[in-house]
Amino acid sequence: MNERTLSIIKPDGVQSGLVGEVIKRFEKAGFKIVAMKMVHLSKEQANEFYAAHKGRSYFEGLTDFMSSGPSVVVALEGQNIVSKYREMMGATDPVQAAEGTIRKAYATDGRQNVVHGSDSRETAAFEIGYFFSAFELVGP
Ligand code: ADP
Ligand code: MG
Repeated sequence: MNERTLSIIKPDGVQSGLVGEVIKRFEKAGFKIVAMKMVHLSKEQANEFYAAHKGRSYFEGLTDFMSSGPSVVVALEGQNIVSKYREMMGATDPVQAAEGTIRKAYATDGRQNVVHGSDSRETAAFEIGYFFSAFELVGP
């Protein structure tokens, strides 16, 4: 069944000129892009977007990082896209990430790891709604 997921090319990815590389991987994999834009999150927005991680040791560093520069947010659609895209990203920490994944190839460390991906359909619905209104998501 078709589902959607949210990708973010994080500030380190934009800074390192990896927007084209990540989008190329989506196109090669046949992921359908249903919305895309550049945003520079404020600290408050980063806190809100990552609210589920509040209280974790890495939370402050994460939201400082995510508000440090522009990101590109992309909504993707496809069969099992949540797990397919998480496979493409690789593990959170590049040391653990599998060969051929985006994070293995480009991440600096467990924080500056180039891309975000929703971890479930439910999270994806919240995350896509955080950035895009219904009319910004292209139809079939
Ligand atoms: P993922 O992005 O793989 O879904 P999490 O949801 O666990 O990973 O964490 C969200 C983000 O928080 C990570 O992508 C990373 O930027 C940051 N993060 C997670 N764990 C750590 C950590 N131990 N140290 C530093 N940053 C972390
Ligand atoms: Mg996550």
